[in-house]
Amino acid sequence: MDTTPTWRPAERVRGFTNSVFSEMTSLAMRTGAINLGQGIPEAASPVNLLRYATDAISTGENQYAPASGLPRLRDAIAQQRFSRYLTSYQPSDEVVVTTGATEAIAAAVLAFCGPGDQIITFDPCYDSYPAVASLAGAQLVAVPLRQDGDGFALDVAALRRAARSARSRLLILNTPHNPTGKVFTTAEIAAVADICLSHDLIVVTDEVYEYLTYDGREHQSIAALPGMMERTVAISSAGKTFNVTGWKVGWACGPAHLVGPLLAAKQFLSFSSGTPFQVAVAAALLSPETRDPWLDGLRSSLQRRRDILRDGLERAGLKTFRAEGGYFLQADVRGWGYDDDLQFCQELPRQAGVVAIPVSAFYQNAESAPRWLARFAFCKRDDVLSTAVEKLASAAPGSSSRTRTRTRTSDTPKQPDYRTIDNR
Ligand code: PMP
Ligand code: GLN
Repeated sequence: MDTTPTWRPAERVRGFTNSVFSEMTSLAMRTGAINLGQGIPEAASPVNLLRYATDAISTGENQYAPASGLPRLRDAIAQQRFSRYLTSYQPSDEVVVTTGATEAIAAAVLAFCGPGDQIITFDPCYDSYPAVASLAGAQLVAVPLRQDGDGFALDVAALRRAARSARSRLLILNTPHNPTGKVFTTAEIAAVADICLSHDLIVVTDEVYEYLTYDGREHQSIAALPGMMERTVAISSAGKTFNVTGWKVGWACGPAHLVGPLLAAKQFLSFSSGTPFQVAVAAALLSPETRDPWLDGLRSSLQRRRDILRDGLERAGLKTFRAEGGYFLQADVRGWGYDDDLQFCQELPRQAGVVAIPVSAFYQNAESAPRWLARFAFCKRDDVLSTAVEKLASAAPGSSSRTRTRTRTSDTPKQPDYRTIDNR
């Protein structure tokens, strides 16, 4: 009897491949190249925060937290949202702690979207959005951000057209934006709000880089606009704010009629996680006298590191786009004679000893995706960035030290088509 199983994965995960971040991090490990791919911060975390966590572990705060999160963390999040955005949430039923922003986004989508529904976001977008749309059986409609000089702009007319569909249900807004580095302007956020109000859309706002804005820009939460509190789930996490991406402490804030169903979904995803880390994040958020100076320092250090990388990429002949916030710079690989970002990123470790991410992996509309952008992370140590830019300069076409090497087949990752997730 043939006992070979004949099962196939369910339709909803059939198109999933390893994430582009994991692929590129393993390429960096295989080749020993500097990893400017995945956004893993290398800078220190606030010393107090680390001590709060170790204290919490050693004093026994190691069991399940409530599904909605420790009350003291929900209080701290409500206070942080109020002091920063003047948006007021009841910690009892309008704030939920999640396993990173990733789980909050997934729970929001699972709670409100199903087969036949459309979720609107912008193209390019973070990779978890198409994936959770697929898990929910919903369709993701990604409205292209328009290239505007050395930055990207909202195409209001295109967004309005997409929102007009009777099936559109929820919009995901990510600002500061990954991968473009765009910080949506006041006028753009107002235009998004206006469209969501006219078409009765729920807004899920991914604000994980809320503190990481540069050159005097400020992040604004769409939840704070008139009429928007009632329809917005504001999502953030401690990962980028305190350089603790591995802790996966995130949260969702919104009116109880949105956060209640989100919690209903979330309790069957993880129930709860990271109790001692929740204790530590609560304490860090509640102490503005340590939090705010620390965050000012983080912001200015990231801006300086952005400049090191930007200047280095430009010197190496890779024109960059404006990074107004977040961790990433996009560079035009045509400067090195490539018109395929995937090929550039596969060859870069051998050419220059550096790993970057092909930006086409973030695009949902293959026809309108530029295939000539690579994303470089600048959340790395100064010396790592300086070494990376020296290597890029030596490998640049025309550089006297350039050694043209062909990519060895063994270093070339399989070529997953990152754009094939079903229902995109
Ligand atoms: N949203 C965006 C835009 C991101 O870049 C990331 C990556 N950290 C996440 C969400 C995930 O956040 P978390 O690690 O808190 O789940
Ligand atoms: N947010 C990180 C990035 O964009 C990756 C997080 C992850 O690997 N899932 O690089």
